[in-house]
Amino acid sequence: MSSEFLQHGLPSKNDDQRPGPPLWLLAEITYRCPLHCAFCFNPVDFATQEQELSTEGWLKVLREARAMGSVQCGFSGGEPLLRDDLEVLVAEASSLGFYTNLLTTGVGLTEKRALALKEAGLAHIQLSFQDSTKESNDFLSNTKTFDLKQRVAGLIKQHEWPMVLNCVIHRMNIDHIDKIIDMALDLGAEYLELANAQYYSWAVVNRDQLLPSKEQLESAERITNEYRERIGDRMKIIFVVPDYYESRPKKCMNGWGNVFLTIAPDGTALPCHTARMLPGLEFPKVDEHSLEHIWYDSEGFNRYRGTGWMKEPCKSCPEAEIDLGGCRCQAFMLANDPAAADPVCDKSPHRSVVDEAIAHAQIPDNERVVEHQLVFRDPKESRRLTQIATETEEPI
Ligand code: SF4
Ligand code: SF4
Repeated sequence: MSSEFLQHGLPSKNDDQRPGPPLWLLAEITYRCPLHCAFCFNPVDFATQEQELSTEGWLKVLREARAMGSVQCGFSGGEPLLRDDLEVLVAEASSLGFYTNLLTTGVGLTEKRALALKEAGLAHIQLSFQDSTKESNDFLSNTKTFDLKQRVAGLIKQHEWPMVLNCVIHRMNIDHIDKIIDMALDLGAEYLELANAQYYSWAVVNRDQLLPSKEQLESAERITNEYRERIGDRMKIIFVVPDYYESRPKKCMNGWGNVFLTIAPDGTALPCHTARMLPGLEFPKVDEHSLEHIWYDSEGFNRYRGTGWMKEPCKSCPEAEIDLGGCRCQAFMLANDPAAADPVCDKSPHRSVVDEAIAHAQIPDNERVVEHQLVFRDPKESRRLTQIATETEEPI
């Protein structure tokens, strides 16, 4: 994958060139999950989408994607280990030549399944933690899984997989950043991903509780940098800031329909895992169309490719090719217009929405008024919030 390709993204729809292939395939094989994270990135209405592709359906996806030139395959969820055909899918992906990655909570990764996944050729595991102590980890996931995750980390090392520990960072755990780094070092992780929550899906529902203050964020970054200096190559730490604190948006998914192809559990093909929320767009299903057609020719994948769809201020912006206007889902959620500039951008006429959220985050916890208590992801809440959104026609 050339870095030039990643930096420059796709040509606009006005150009004659076809986009490159979907180098990254994210197979979200189920939305089911034993955890209940309050920042969960699965859609808020996940409980109304219970259908899942069959094993054969997933095998077809893997074969077609590889034939188009995909090279990386992430098995994600929900919790992918809840599907008992995971080993079959990993084996097929490996034999097709994918570099395979499992993104897991650890729940269900027994010795027996670890052996089977090793046998199937799984290359890489990313294990999520919610915090560095049993009390906080278990509170934030609303489960008793901390001890299990520690055991699973041992299993990953025992089977000699490269281990990425991932911890979503937010207001309720950011002050423990040193303890989280210490834990990852103790567990022997090669990589630690400290990814601040981005405000989509369940994290939007709980934004008041999750968005850290500027002071918290600066302190966490300073501590992370001190660790980086101290530990050198022993463990690579990736720290991702919440984009609300930036003045330019990220080049979302490295460009719409540019590199990433997500397949939702029911076989809906998406340019990113939250794109289904966008109004006026139909996303094709893999059991009705070939991936070739979906990627190159479908309306869903072409609508926001490149720069041809842009309005002002993006349209005449000299930075248009750099960030491609940011995230369409964020534009819809915060500006109610999927073709608007991402409101994170300080050139956006809707930046004040982001600034208000940030201003609220600077107020100490004991002086703030929040609209509701922390809402943990679960099917009951999913149905309740979906019902409210349907009645009010608000994005969720
Ligand atoms: S964020 Fe938490 S609840 Fe959501 S899929 Fe991941 S582990 Fe499950
Ligand atoms: S105006 Fe649009 S293209 Fe320009 S920097 Fe902002 S989001 Fe990016």
